Order: sequence, then structure tokens, then C-alpha cells
Amino acid sequence: MSQVIARADADALPDITTERGERAVFCGLTSIIWLHRRIQDAFFLVVGSRTCAHLLQSAAGVMIFAEPRFATAILGERDLAGMADCHEELDRVVSELLARRPDIRRLFLVGSCPSEVIKLDLANAAARLQGVHENRLRISAFSGSGIETTFTQGEDQCLASMVPDLPVLSEGSQRLMVVGTLADIVEEQFRRHFAQLGITEVDFFPAARADDLPPVGPGTRVLLAQPYLSDTVTALTKRGAKLVSAPYPLGIEGTLGWFEAAASEWGHHAEAVQEALAIPVARAQKSLARVRGSLEGRSVHFLPDSQLEIPLARFLRDECGMSLTEVATPYLDQTLMADELRRLGSGVSLVEGSDLDSALARVREHRPDLTVCGMGIANPLEAEGFRTKWSIELIFTPIQGFDQVADLAGLFARPLVRERQLEVGSWS
Ligand code: SF4
Repeated sequence: MSQVIARADADALPDITTERGERAVFCGLTSIIWLHRRIQDAFFLVVGSRTCAHLLQSAAGVMIFAEPRFATAILGERDLAGMADCHEELDRVVSELLARRPDIRRLFLVGSCPSEVIKLDLANAAARLQGVHENRLRISAFSGSGIETTFTQGEDQCLASMVPDLPVLSEGSQRLMVVGTLADIVEEQFRRHFAQLGITEVDFFPAARADDLPPVGPGTRVLLAQPYLSDTVTALTKRGAKLVSAPYPLGIEGTLGWFEAAASEWGHHAEAVQEALAIPVARAQKSLARVRGSLEGRSVHFLPDSQLEIPLARFLRDECGMSLTEVATPYLDQTLMADELRRLGSGVSLVEGSDLDSALARVREHRPDLTVCGMGIANPLEAEGFRTKWSIELIFTPIQGFDQVADLAGLFARPLVRERQLEVGSWS
């Protein structure tokens, strides 16, 4: 039986429980899979072990068909014992790579568990290598280590490492910076909607080209497209940018609220935004209505994984009619999530952090219709008769914006529809 939690009082905030314990989340290296697709002339050089190389190769198997844009410089046992000069070796690997690949415009040195354990200073190495290859490309370093990062935090570290390279925004001008990796098709749609609102001073960070670095300064208004970018926001605000408090562009309400928050910085009222975007909103409502029936009245449980859990829960409850048994998220940045927490309201069981055993015990107690979780947990839960959805799929799929609303709902509907088909099949 599922525990049904009623739609919340919008003025109150959820009760937050904090848990600390074992977690089962991919490390930050995983973010390279979607970052390398987005920044098309960047190269990611992981300084790690064979385990790191295997993770990347198996997660991004398709890359064997293309000229790869990531690789692993393997730290051998000698290096781990501190016997070899890793820096010398790294310089050699980088020089060879750059000689072979003149198309690379940005090189990321990506730290891993092994490089962290031996305290290899990759930021220093990046600065040294930048000196050697001065005008040829930009080089920076970030950590994707499983000790320090989950898969979405990998993107946060990557973007934060680029902030010092952003040019200065000229005094007196105001520009919007949309921060967080989006699919090209979503960027196009968003640019169109911003133009409909009369906002043309818009940059996307990261951009498809590594050299397209948006300017930053006191006139920059930061609008987050992804909720897991705490360190990037800190770095941008240190350079004078102002964070716009907004929901995330997931679902119709979230997307509309996102545009309204941006537009208010340009002096436009919410009514004007609703009027300008009435057509895409109506189209999204129509397409969502076709999927909603498969989700309505069902219950969903979020285990902590991607940091997208809160806006997704808000969408599934408010726009798809689902009930929430629990919403758990690995980290909760209350500033970045302020608008979403208000929308989620009270009466929702919200858990920050992870303690795998107790989290699984609560899934078994609530028996939700659908559990959104990491890949490692999904199989055992399926074997126990639970229907699951891998949260990492939500990172790889374009789900933001009006035109993607039905696809987003469809990702959650699919396991439930399949289950019904199986039930029907077993009776016929
Ligand atoms: Fe494993 Fe750490 Fe390498 Fe990630 S960074 S693949 S967790 S060893």
C-alpha cells in the first residue's frame, strides 16, 4: 500500500530529514559522457586507474565509432606508491595528445580517486601546461573522483573550473546567462522563447564551442537550467553575477515560472510572459494530457541520486496527479532550491543525504508504484517486484522546456504501462 501525501500548502516548506550513510551513486567522471557531447571541441583527460577507464568506456560505448574526445592517463602501481614523477608523465601524454589533435580548443584534466589519494595537484598541472601551450587552447582541471563527487556534481566541478576564464561583462550592460548543460534542441527552443519575450542578450554556459565563453559581471543574471551547480554559482557570484531565484524548467509550470523569473529581471510582468508563451503552453498541455492517464493516481518514490529529484517530484505531483511517498536527494542546496521548496510545500517527506539500508527499508514499507533510483539499486528492486526508473536516464534525455513535457512524463509512464501490459498478458 502506498502512503498518499496530499498536495501541499504552498506557503509552508517540507520537513527535511538528514541521513548519512552508505550511498550508491556514480562518480563525477560519468558527467564527461554528456559534457563531451555538449562542448564539441573539448577533450577530457582523466588521470586515473583502469577502473576509471572501464567506467568511461562502458558508459560511453558509442564513442568507438567516432574520434574519441576523452581518454584516461593510467596511474600505474608505481605512481600510486609515489615512485614515479606523475607530472612528467602527464606533460608527455598532453603534448602527444595536442600534437595529434589540433582541433581541441579546451583540455580538461579530470581528477579521480587514485589521483586524489596520491594528492596529485591537477590545478597546478593545468596552470603549468597552460603556460607551455599558451595561445593554442585553454586548459583547466576538475575533480570527478568518487570520493568527492556524484555524477551530477562532476558537471558542477567542470563548469566552476571554467569560470576564471570568462571575460568581463562591460559595465552598464545586462545579460542573461543560462547555466547548465542542455541539449542543442532545447537551447534553440529557449532562445526562441526568450526572443518572444524581447530578451535577446542571452548566453548559454556551457556553449557548444569551448571558445564561446559568456561574459560575467554585476550585470549578469544567472538562470539555472540544472539544479546541481552550487560551486559554479558560488564562482559566478564571486565575479559579481546575480542568481535569479526560479523553479527549474521541468514541466509546464516549472518552465513557465522559469521564464517569468528571468523576464522579471527585464521588467516584464508574469501576465505578459503568459500571453507571449500561450501557444507553446497550450501545445504542451495537449501533449501532456495524452500521457497523464498512465500516471494519475499512482505513487512515486525518489531515492537520492541525481539532485533533480525535487523539481521532478513537483512536476509528477502537480501536473501528472501522482502522489509522493518520499523525495530523497543526495545534497540539498536550499538557496538553489528555494523556489522549488516553496512549490513542494509542507506534507512531503523530504530526505537529504543517503543511508542505503534505511532508504530501501522505507521503499519496502511504502511499496510505491514507481521508484526512481540509481542503476545499481534498480535491478535488486525489480527482482523484488518493484517498478523502477533509472534517474541517470533523465540526465541523458532532453526533458527541459514545453516541447519536452510529454517525453518527460513518458519516461515515468513507460515502466507502469509495461507492467500493465504484462498483467493483461498474464490473464489472457
Ligand atoms: Fe571508480 Fe573513483 Fe575512478 Fe570513479 S574516479 S571510476 S569511483 S576509481
